[in-house]
Amino acid sequence: MKTILGYLRPHAPRVAVGVTVKFTAAVLELLLPLLLAHIIDDCVPARDLPGVFRAGGLMLLMAFGAAFCNITANRMAAWVSMDMTRQLRRDLYQRTLLLSQAQLDRFSVSSIVSRLTNDTYNVHQMFDKIQRGGIRAPMLVLGGLALTFFQAPPLALVQLGVCSATFFAIWLVTRRGIPRYTRAQEAVDTVVRILQENAAGVRVVKALVCQGRERDRFAAASRASKEAEEAAGCVMAAANPLSDFLLNLGLVLVVLAGAALVDRGRMASGQIVAFLSYFTLIQTATLGLAKLFVKYSKGVASARRIEEVLLAPEDQQVRVPGEAPGPELGMENASFSYLGVEKDLDGASFSLNKGETLGVLGPTGSGKTTLISLLLRLYDADSGVVWVGSRDVSALSREDLRGRFGVVFQNEALLNDSVYENISFLRGLSREDVTAAARTAQAWAFIEALPEGLDARLDIRGANLSGGQRQRLLIARALAARPGILILDSADSALDYRTAAALHAAVRRDCPGVTLVVISERVASLRDADRILVLEDGVIAAQGTHGELLETCGRYRRMAELQMGGLT
Ligand code: ADP
Repeated sequence: MKTILGYLRPHAPRVAVGVTVKFTAAVLELLLPLLLAHIIDDCVPARDLPGVFRAGGLMLLMAFGAAFCNITANRMAAWVSMDMTRQLRRDLYQRTLLLSQAQLDRFSVSSIVSRLTNDTYNVHQMFDKIQRGGIRAPMLVLGGLALTFFQAPPLALVQLGVCSATFFAIWLVTRRGIPRYTRAQEAVDTVVRILQENAAGVRVVKALVCQGRERDRFAAASRASKEAEEAAGCVMAAANPLSDFLLNLGLVLVVLAGAALVDRGRMASGQIVAFLSYFTLIQTATLGLAKLFVKYSKGVASARRIEEVLLAPEDQQVRVPGEAPGPELGMENASFSYLGVEKDLDGASFSLNKGETLGVLGPTGSGKTTLISLLLRLYDADSGVVWVGSRDVSALSREDLRGRFGVVFQNEALLNDSVYENISFLRGLSREDVTAAARTAQAWAFIEALPEGLDARLDIRGANLSGGQRQRLLIARALAARPGILILDSADSALDYRTAAALHAAVRRDCPGVTLVVISERVASLRDADRILVLEDGVIAAQGTHGELLETCGRYRRMAELQMGGLT
C-alpha cells in the first residue's frame, strides 16, 4: 500500500484543498437544522416574519453553498483519482513490459490484464470515494451526534444505537456480498475466455463439427455465471430494505421519545424537527461510511495485487562479462527446467560462426523453442553457458541482446493495421526497407496485388489473409530491421515447398552475413544448414551437417527418406 500511496503524494496540495472544501460543506450542512429549530421555536411563536425570512434566506444560502462546495470537491477528487490512476496504470504497464518471461509465466497473462484493468479501477474507486466521503461522512456522523447530544441526550442515545445497528448490518451484508461478487466476476471471466477461444478457433470448431460441444461448454459457463450472480444478488438484495427499515424504525423511536419529552416540557417541538433532520443526515452518512469501508477493503486488496507486479524484483541482472566462450552464437552444457522438476533442455552444447546457418529439428515438445528462448534470454539457463556475439548473454543489456535478433515465433499476432505498420512494427522504418524485407520474405507479390498495396488494412489477427501470407508478413517484420541474427521458429510451416525454398535462397542472397537459426519439421528447409541439431526430449541427440546426419543419425535419415523420398 505504501507504493500506491506514493502516487497520491504529487497531488497532496489538490487533495488538501478538496478536503478543506468538503469540510466547509459539512459544517454548512450541520448548521442547517439549527436554523430550522430557531425558526420553529423562536420566530414562529413570536410571529417574527422578518426573522423567518432572514433565517430562511440564510438557510437557502447555506444549502446552495454546501451544494457548490460538494460539487467542487467531488470534481477535484475525480481529477486527482483519475490522474493518479492514469500514472499508476502507465507504470504498471511499463513494468509489465519489463517482466522476465519466468515472471510473466508466474503471474499469468490473464491475471496481468485483470490487474491492469479491474484492480486499477478498484484503486481508483477507493481513492475517489475516500476523498469524497472520507471527511464528510465521519464529520456528519460525529458532528451530528455531538450537536444532538448537546441538545437532547436521551434522543441522541436512541440515534447512536440505530446508527451503530445500521453500520454493522450494512457492513456485514456487503462483506458477505463481496466474495460472491468476486466469484461472479471469475465466472464472467470464464464465459469471456470461452468466447475468445471460440472466436480465435472458429475455423477448427467448424471443421471438426464441434459446435454442439462448444455450445454446451458455453451454456454451462453461462449458467455458472448466472448462478454466481444470483447468489451475490440475493445477499446484496438485503442491503437497501434493511437500511430503510432501520431508518424508519429510528424515526419512529425518535418521534415517540421526542413526543414524551415535549409532553413533559423538556424539549421544544422545533428541536424535534431539527433532530429528525439530523437523524436522516447521520443515517445517510452512516450508510455512506459502511459502503466506504467496503470500497476500501476491495481497494486495498487490489493495491496489493498491483504492488506485487510493480515491486517484482529484476530477476535478470546484467552480469560482469566473463571470458568469451566461443564464436557468434552457441551453448556449452546448458540446462534449463521451467518448473524445476525435470529438465526441458539438458546439457545442450553447440556453436556457430557468424554468417552460418543452424538448423534445429525434433518432435513437438522436444525443446526447440526452449533453446531459442535461452538464446534470447527470455529465461536464464539453470546451468552452463549461453552466448551470443561472443559474449555471455547475461553480460549483455536487454536492448543490446534483443537488438541483435530478428525473430519469427509460431502463432505470432498481426495488428489490425496497415500492411506497412505490421512490417515496420512501430520502428518507423522507411517504405523502401519495408518493401525490400517484403520482397525477401516472398510477400511482395501478394502485397502488390492488394488494392491498396502496403497501405491495405489487415483484419484483427490478419484474418483476411491466408496462413502462408500471414507467415510471410511476420518474416518480413523480422527481416525489416536488418538483424545480425535471424531466428525462424517453424516460420515456413504454412508455406508450400517451392515458396519455402525461394524464401531460404532469398534470405541468403539479400542478407549477406546474417546468422540464421531455422527451426523446422522439414528436412528440405534444413539440408543446406552448416549445422543441424536433432533434439529429443530436451537432449541434443545428434548434430552435424545434412550429409553427416544421414550417415550417423537413424532418426534423421528416416525423416529425410520419408519427406524427400529418393532425393536425400
Ligand atoms: P518444442 O518447441 O520442441 O515443441 P518446447 O521447447 O516448447 O518444445 O517445450 C519443451 C518442453 O517444455 C515441453 O515438455 C513443454 O511442455 C515444456 N514447456 C514449454 N513451455 C513451458 C512453460 N512456459 N512452462 C512449463 N513448461 C513448458
